[in-house]
Amino acid sequence: MLAGEPRLAVANSEFAFELHVCQWAERAWPPDGDRDSPVLVARQLGTKRRRWDTIVVECDPAGLRQRANFGRQRLDSDLRHVLGHAPTEWAYYRDALPDPGYPWRYVREAIHTAADRGVLDRRKRGNRIEIRRRHAYPDWIERIVAIENKPDLDASAARRLAPQLERDVALGLADEVWVATERTDERIEPILLEDLPAAAGVLTVDPSTVEADVAWYPQSLAVSEPGTRIVERPDDDLSAARFEYVDPEWKAEKRRSIAERAYERGWRAYADSLRPDCRHFQLRTEGDSVVPYCEAKERVPTPSTCRSGCRECEPEPPAWRTGGWPIDGGPGAGIRRLLDDQRRRHRPGLDDGTG
Ligand code: SF4
Repeated sequence: MLAGEPRLAVANSEFAFELHVCQWAERAWPPDGDRDSPVLVARQLGTKRRRWDTIVVECDPAGLRQRANFGRQRLDSDLRHVLGHAPTEWAYYRDALPDPGYPWRYVREAIHTAADRGVLDRRKRGNRIEIRRRHAYPDWIERIVAIENKPDLDASAARRLAPQLERDVALGLADEVWVATERTDERIEPILLEDLPAAAGVLTVDPSTVEADVAWYPQSLAVSEPGTRIVERPDDDLSAARFEYVDPEWKAEKRRSIAERAYERGWRAYADSLRPDCRHFQLRTEGDSVVPYCEAKERVPTPSTCRSGCRECEPEPPAWRTGGWPIDGGPGAGIRRLLDDQRRRHRPGLDDGTG
């Protein structure tokens, strides 16, 4: 299951590059100084309209530890509404909670979900539901950093990327926006010659060593001020662009949602989109982390190739899975457990097995 040799899995795809950026960020963020805050790293998170490749959440150390009281699973906005306002003494839920602005039945559902997860006390008095706080929901998010991964940023990729970054900067949902690209041997990194927004930072990454350098520093974005959503940006010089304003409360709520999802998923959830139950699937040790490797194809497997349709796929025998080989299931189950353990290590206090 775990190949011990310290050989780096070559970044032969955008997916492999993305894993290396996540791995580096978890070990070395921030890129230019000592780490003051613990970080959580996740992949493929954002909003309905925009999804970033890599997210780094810089966390308040005490807040992150208190967040663990609520288990590994994310808390959605309905749950946060209940848990954030739950009283310290028993009270009828409609007296204790502010009007949610949506039907109370959704609040009742959230109360039952929270109580079933063991993060809220609930009891019935007559036909009234009363609630009581178990833990205060902490303010655990300090900064959110978004990284777009573009290992090969040629001119046409840069033309497509520039408007995306302009939108990110105008909206100001993340505190910083970066582009990570593969390091070249050229005197001036080619990405610096592209017409990208100056507010976006540039990281150059060496996938063979999983090291990164800053080629251009980003500006800090005004996350607590209103943002601008660029709805339409015509290519011609005649038509006007269309904008919408986004209020700070919407941004704060989205940031909490992104951070909650990062807490739940991390970046190792890639196992869900690969075939760790294939006999050729391995995890290779790289520093203090592991990355997936396909022994048959001698490369990092990707979600588009590592699936049931793969011609080299050899699923582990069902008897392994059900027969407790060597303990509790076959290698596929063992790989998932290992990745879960690694994820847990970056979430202090989370030792209760929830989620
Ligand atoms: S052989 Fe195919 S399914 Fe098996 S690990 Fe390799 S890519 Fe994945």
